[in-house]
Amino acid sequence: MYLTFDLGTIILLHSTSLIAGAAAILHSRRRSSRPMGLGRLAVAFIALAIGAALAAFGERAALPSWLWTHLSLLLGMVAYPLLWDGMRRLSGRRRSLYWILILVPVGWFVIGIESDFPLVNAQRASVFHLTAVISLAASAVEIWLDRHRELLPARRPLAACLLASALIYAVRLVCIVLDIPSKLDFATAFFLQIFFNFWIALLVVTLVRERREAGLQLAADTDALTGIGNRRWFLGRLPAAPLANSALAILDVDRFKQINDRFGHPVGDHVLASVARAVRDGLREGDVLARYGGEEFVLFLPNVGEQDARAVAERLRHRIEAMSVAIDGVRIGVTASIGVAWSDRKGGAWDAWIQTADSACYAAKASGRNLVKTSVV
Ligand code: GH3
Ligand code: MG
Ligand code: MG
Repeated sequence: MYLTFDLGTIILLHSTSLIAGAAAILHSRRRSSRPMGLGRLAVAFIALAIGAALAAFGERAALPSWLWTHLSLLLGMVAYPLLWDGMRRLSGRRRSLYWILILVPVGWFVIGIESDFPLVNAQRASVFHLTAVISLAASAVEIWLDRHRELLPARRPLAACLLASALIYAVRLVCIVLDIPSKLDFATAFFLQIFFNFWIALLVVTLVRERREAGLQLAADTDALTGIGNRRWFLGRLPAAPLANSALAILDVDRFKQINDRFGHPVGDHVLASVARAVRDGLREGDVLARYGGEEFVLFLPNVGEQDARAVAERLRHRIEAMSVAIDGVRIGVTASIGVAWSDRKGGAWDAWIQTADSACYAAKASGRNLVKTSVV
């Protein structure tokens, strides 16, 4: 590298970047209902900052070398496993790495006290760098792998920054162990770490914010009682204009008021959740279901002929009729009427489809309930 830095300044900046990162993470933790590793990450950042400052100024501050070397190594050995564990929890894993959290610092501290290896700069640096490489690389892998479980945009750059930080330590480690001069000198490596420290802290905070926003979005789109989408979500899922060969259906539970009156509102709620489950499990891939309001559900069936739309609705009607909802040994008979609006032409307005499906549902009610009526838009 062709950059030159004053070592004292760069190490002070390194500590500062870690403290700033810890402050940002702690601020995010205060605002978070589920901290998920943020406390550990903040503690890890602070321990690294203190360790770095000790290592930089220990000698100059006339601390006995056995004190600052052992202490700075111990802080590093506490901090990196804690950082790994914090990243795991941030990523959504519940199981903590307690054995690593205890074994690594205790193990190295005991070995250090026994052998005094921390007094030898190269040996102390090797152990420190090795722990850093393993912890950072493992954190990167876990954050990356968990993207299938929870897709958040900040995952990829966070995993990349952790990996980059691990790589810098790995290059330094090789140079220290093999005792070869490197173009990646000490100060330049620190400069790059400062860059990634800031990025890692920023991305941790971003990931927490993205998770909170995704949770709020899900809550805004979901019907709390049945767990399926609500009307707002449904209207957002419809194509901008109606497609040819598709259907929109309205499903209304029959005489639901009587169920409420006879068994009570909580049982009525339970019936609604059961209907939602029965319908959801009877749908094809790509069909869209939502609770339209009260005891009414709405469905969008893309790519379906008129006969097939009727067949899907009939199947759903059967599933509801066959449902067994029992309270205190009493079976509650539940049926539903379904109105289907279908068209082989594209364009027009969704309002007209909803009105057509509603009228068809009304006709099914008028014809005796527990029926499907289809109408062409
Ligand atoms: P129909 O066969 O003509 O559809 O008769 P119905 O009794 O199903 O229709 P009506 O519109 O007269 O009654 C619907 C009832 O649904 C009235 C309302 O109290 C009840 N309801 C609406 N939302 C909920 C809910 O979230 N939980 C419960 N338990 N009941 C609800
Ligand atoms: Mg109704
Ligand atoms: Mg009803």
